[in-house]
Amino acid sequence: MVIERLWFRWPVAALIFVAATWLNLQLQPALNGRAPLLPFFPSLVVVGLACGLGPSLAFLAAACLATLYFWVDPVGQFLPINSLADAAMVVLFLFAGALVASVSAWAGRLMQKERNSRRRLNLALAAGRMVTWDWDSVTGFATTAGGAKQLFGRSWSSMDDMLAGMSAPDAERFRDRYRYATESGGRFSFACPLTRPDTGETVWTQFDGYVSLDAKGRAVHAYGVAVDVTQQQEALRASQAAEERFHLALQSGKVMAWECDAQGRYTWAFNTPMGFSRDALIGAEVGSLVGEPEYAAIVREAVATGRTMNLAQQVSHGGRTYQLLTSLRPVADHNGEVRRVLGATVDVSELSAAQEELRRESQRKDAFLATLAHELRNPMAPIRYAVAMLRQSTTEAARAHATDIIARQSAHMARLLDDLLDMSRITRNVVELQRQVIDLRTVVKQALEAVEPLYKEMKHRVSLSLPPEPVPVDGDPTRLQQVLGNLLDNAAKYSPEPGEVTVHVATEDDQALVTVTDKGIGIAMEMQPQVFELFTRIDSRGAAPSGLGIGLAVSRQLVQLHGGAIEVESEGVGHGSRFIVRLPLAPHGPAAHDGEEPDVEATDPAAAPVCVMVVDDNVDGANTLAEVLRGAHYRAAVAYSGEEALKCFERVQPRVMLLDIGLPGISGTEVARRLRSSTRREDLALIAITGWGQRSDRDATAAAGFDAHLVKPVEFSELERVMQQLLSEPR
Ligand code: ADP
Repeated sequence: MVIERLWFRWPVAALIFVAATWLNLQLQPALNGRAPLLPFFPSLVVVGLACGLGPSLAFLAAACLATLYFWVDPVGQFLPINSLADAAMVVLFLFAGALVASVSAWAGRLMQKERNSRRRLNLALAAGRMVTWDWDSVTGFATTAGGAKQLFGRSWSSMDDMLAGMSAPDAERFRDRYRYATESGGRFSFACPLTRPDTGETVWTQFDGYVSLDAKGRAVHAYGVAVDVTQQQEALRASQAAEERFHLALQSGKVMAWECDAQGRYTWAFNTPMGFSRDALIGAEVGSLVGEPEYAAIVREAVATGRTMNLAQQVSHGGRTYQLLTSLRPVADHNGEVRRVLGATVDVSELSAAQEELRRESQRKDAFLATLAHELRNPMAPIRYAVAMLRQSTTEAARAHATDIIARQSAHMARLLDDLLDMSRITRNVVELQRQVIDLRTVVKQALEAVEPLYKEMKHRVSLSLPPEPVPVDGDPTRLQQVLGNLLDNAAKYSPEPGEVTVHVATEDDQALVTVTDKGIGIAMEMQPQVFELFTRIDSRGAAPSGLGIGLAVSRQLVQLHGGAIEVESEGVGHGSRFIVRLPLAPHGPAAHDGEEPDVEATDPAAAPVCVMVVDDNVDGANTLAEVLRGAHYRAAVAYSGEEALKCFERVQPRVMLLDIGLPGISGTEVARRLRSSTRREDLALIAITGWGQRSDRDATAAAGFDAHLVKPVEFSELERVMQQLLSEPR
């Protein structure tokens, strides 16, 4: 315990000298003047230890003078040496005293050094948030340096104190490690969370220790350090989480992060694209693996200019073309020298492909709109001419010819509109199938009947081959007929006149197959996958220009809704085409008479003219329909609103009412509801004629009391068939 303040050592030495001299003066009478030097020696040791060499030598000199003055005869003189013995005593005292002073000053310095190094150790332990521990396995006591209480909330005086903050499984694991180190006589290392008993906080602690063994191999002593690594642990976790987020972002964005040296050689890479491994990339020049060595030159240019660069690149690898966007940034070190370049490369191939597809789609849509305008305008000219013909005509034959033209052209327009509506329903996913088990042979026959006039007109020959037994399919007959009708229509349209078309129906495993083969213009190989896309019209020479490019798209969707598939085969332009429709076979055969038209007993309208009331706010539409009805020998009345219909109902007493649903004021549905509740007439047939044909619309009209629901535009023959059926079977 050397006094650290230098100036303070001298007064302390002087004080000790005065105290020692006083004590000696008190003791000498009792000692009879013997050994007057003796009491000065302990004081000299104290002065040496506390005040260092200088003050202790001064103390020695003063003690020598005091001894000579007070206790050597003649007393009262500072140099009373008369005898050799006195001189020898003084020399001996001085010599021994100098020795004691030096040794104690040296010991004091050592103690000071030791205290300083202990201070430094404590400082280092506190800065490193650690404690050292020393455990005697014989006594069970532990000693620690550093603040165990500050760091871990308790003082460690035994191994159990150390383990008290651990969870039971962690304490068990610690003991296991310790035991293993005991057996192998070596180091052990263990990290776990400790819970502070005072605050309840968790302190992540890293233990490193060493077990020393005695000659018999028993553990006698263990020592080591315990470090509070909570901050490192938290930083590690935060950096792991940040890295995970970073990796996730890179992966989901298809971004490769990379780093290269100033020569453009990869030094690090993450999320490598195009199937390259990281190892293949590291050390390679940027761009060299995809045959684009100039990319490394771009990197070197960035290094030279120190500027960030953004590039769009297109590279080919493994038979694929990739669209890449790269950003690279040169990084300068503290000298301002660029030694590395950071980069990020994004694979935007899918995005570019999607953009390209959107562009193509938009082009197809534009082409479609142009075609649609053209297709809708086409029938208008003949209709207008026919109207003019009707106005001028005087003969029955000219009138019949004009009505034929109008009927044919308006049917064509209706078909176009039907296709458009179907397309819109299919793209909105609102098509409802009215499924039942049917014989596919019947559907094929009906489809052929429907296209017969066209085939006749174009002088095409059709041959049909059907299996002898029924082909049961669970499907919507109208929709399947539409699909086959479309294929037959195309076969006719895209075959030069006179052509030859074959329709073949067969079963294969659990599938029904309908094949429509023509010897027409055929389809180029590369176009075949596209014919089922919306708005696809192949621009081939000799092809009939009609059609919107919707039919096959609608057909494919309808077949898929039935759980089937549709394919095209063609050996190329000029080699004809074959369309194959596959449908799952139904497990049970079709119901008896399925697909057969119900036998409608035709009533002769002329014999007893039936009264029909047409209710429609479209005045032209209502009047024309009434005219046609009259032409077919019905008695027809017209009302242009729901109110009017209800008002004239009693007077007109119609057998059939053809009601538009979307009437202003009282709707068609409301008219039906009121009529059904006010009149008990069972022979009254109510037919809804509307633009809405979903199941929910049909349910609504049925609930209001309608007997039938027809969707506009209605063919007159269909309307008459429904009317006749209702007239022959009253409610
Ligand atoms: P479109 O109304 O134009 O006929 P589709 O969707 O039915 O529309 O057919 C799409 C395109 O497929 C047609 O424009 C035509 O180029 C081609 N295609 C369809 N069927 C045949 C066929 N039997 N022979 C040759 N080309 C065909």
